[in-house]
Amino acid sequence: MEVSQPLEELDWIPRPKILALRRLGITTVEDLLTHFPRRHEDRHQFPRFPREESDTPICLCGEVIKTSLRRFGGWKKIFEATLQEPDANALSQPLVCRWFNLHYIQKMIATGQQLVVFGKPKLRGKRICMDHPEFEVIESDEEQSIHLRRITPIYPATEGLSQRVLRSIIYRLLRELDTEPIEPLLPDKLQNGDRGEAIRTIHFPETWQSLDAARELLVLSEFFAMQMLIASRRNDLHVQLGGAHCGRGELIGKFLRSLPFELTNAQKRVIAEIRQDLGAKYPMNRLLQGDVGSGKTVVAIAGILLAVEAGYQAAFMAPTQILAEQHYAVLRRWLEPLDVRLSIRTAARQEESFLPLVEGDEKANVIIGTHALLYEKVSFSNLGLVVIDEQHKFGVAQRARLTSREPAPDVLVMTATPIPRTITMTVYGDLDVSTLDEMPRNRGKIVTAVRDSAKLGEVLSFLRTQLEAGRQLYVVYPLIEETEKLEVKAAAAEYERWRERLHPFGCELLHGRLPGPEKQEIMDRFRRGKTKVLISTTVIEVGVDVSNATVMLIENAERFGLAQLHQLRGRIGRGEHKSYCILLTSGTSSEAAAKLAVLEKTTDGFAVAEADWEMRGPGDLLGTAQSGLPALKIGNLKRDAELMQRARAAAMSIFETDPGLELPQNQRFRDLIVEQQGRTFSNVS
Ligand code: ADP
Ligand code: MG
Repeated sequence: MEVSQPLEELDWIPRPKILALRRLGITTVEDLLTHFPRRHEDRHQFPRFPREESDTPICLCGEVIKTSLRRFGGWKKIFEATLQEPDANALSQPLVCRWFNLHYIQKMIATGQQLVVFGKPKLRGKRICMDHPEFEVIESDEEQSIHLRRITPIYPATEGLSQRVLRSIIYRLLRELDTEPIEPLLPDKLQNGDRGEAIRTIHFPETWQSLDAARELLVLSEFFAMQMLIASRRNDLHVQLGGAHCGRGELIGKFLRSLPFELTNAQKRVIAEIRQDLGAKYPMNRLLQGDVGSGKTVVAIAGILLAVEAGYQAAFMAPTQILAEQHYAVLRRWLEPLDVRLSIRTAARQEESFLPLVEGDEKANVIIGTHALLYEKVSFSNLGLVVIDEQHKFGVAQRARLTSREPAPDVLVMTATPIPRTITMTVYGDLDVSTLDEMPRNRGKIVTAVRDSAKLGEVLSFLRTQLEAGRQLYVVYPLIEETEKLEVKAAAAEYERWRERLHPFGCELLHGRLPGPEKQEIMDRFRRGKTKVLISTTVIEVGVDVSNATVMLIENAERFGLAQLHQLRGRIGRGEHKSYCILLTSGTSSEAAAKLAVLEKTTDGFAVAEADWEMRGPGDLLGTAQSGLPALKIGNLKRDAELMQRARAAAMSIFETDPGLELPQNQRFRDLIVEQQGRTFSNVS
């Protein structure tokens, strides 16, 4: 039997099962062997039925002594199966398994059957219930030894293919595979072991220890394949034609001396890292991550000045027009005294832009624009460095568009969303990473509190005391899309309400639909302290920097994502005064409450990002799908971070010792990975 053999050729698998397997994306022997269990149940011996509820699911076995179907609320139905434990005694409590509106279940369960169930026991009145447990009907046949009295695999399943059938098929397949057809995919120094044996063990382990070891081997080989792909991508970038774009550093010196503050050690370190890349022949591909307010812009400017000094142009790209204009204003203030020529390009109509367009991009040293710069025909005569702000809104494909130019410019990608380490090792694995892990010292403390909107009265009197003490306030609205006239109207109505509430303190309304010059005037008045309160949409999410504004009230906070709330909050805490962020909510679900509680607990962006990841999964957070990396079949990015680290080190060192490693040699890994793409990935544990 070959690993690549189609399952159709195995005559002992019934045709309908072949079709059901196909629905799971399983067509070959190898597919079936790598259809890994989602979890395992210890069915050596089942525990006694519980008499209390529990939050961890447990696995129980018992006999069905009663079934019933009840109606409630008109058309809704509840099916109940009451189980009795073996050797029941006077103290035994039956277990009531319940399914709501799942009519097919009642056809599967009957009195007298032995059932294995898996779920959380809950106290409902006086009864112990399990709602929607996973279950398996035990049949006493010669196959019983596959399903019982062992550590039993539970698979990601599909309709028309019960656990029992799937398990039996895999069991037989493993028995018929007497040779060792599966090549190990790991270099010896990473892990020794037999992949074939590991595959056997992961399905039908003898002990929990052997299961762990087998899983580790398989996860490592999956991660290693992924890291080989990443390492080869990275290697491709490194051998690409680039150039050195680094000046002597006189301009930087002048710039730094003109700053009203000292750089943090983290900023100094990262500037040195960038400088090294700029001076090297290979193109830089560096990710700069740092929490809001960690001072990324200064670092970017330092890089830009090095490139400009060497006679090259630099491009600075932001995701939105507002941000591009912010950057333009900041860079003008800092760079024009150094005789650096700037120009701005955005996709928006020019008259909407509040800044004059500088003629002649060819002569500019630095071109600032939105990501549209990529697609527009901007005349870069001599592009040496590209800085991309807010990478998470910027896909891998877009980045490739830049780096595929020959000679390739150096690229610095900046993100304010701190990225969990495993993600930087994967989604951004082909980039070098610099981290600003230190905040400038002059930052005040931020206290965050969640309040129900029913308590608005108390909140208002707090806001007043802050305003009376001379501080300024942001009120933020969750208008995500500002294209809608309706929403602008809603914001305007809210604005009127706030003016009354906070009278006599002066309020102004800021939103993305205002014409550019007006926006700038509003921001100016706020910056100068003429206006005390800025009622705003999320346009202030990035870039705004007013140190006397120390209070932020976010309305309907539950509608924002954690990362975005953290970004918003980054607007305060910028001066020496203590700052306050109030998250106003109404009718919040427990999920949303848990989310907001994270912000009360920490102001550390990394902790927020980890929690966000915990709650939403990495796909959501960073668009893993955009990364072009395969879905994982067994490894779990969160749980197996340490294994990812080891796999990465191994793959990187292979390319380090042999930078000329060609893709054909690599093809094996690539195939393996490509093949895994688009597969149902259901072993999320
Ligand atoms: P972000 O990393 O969020 O982009 P910015 O670059 O906008 O942060 O910096 C936030 C503010 O901190 C700016 O006003 C900037 O001038 C200031 N800043 C940057 N570095 C330092 C430093 N080392 N000490 C004090 N303030 C700094
Ligand atoms: Mg920034």
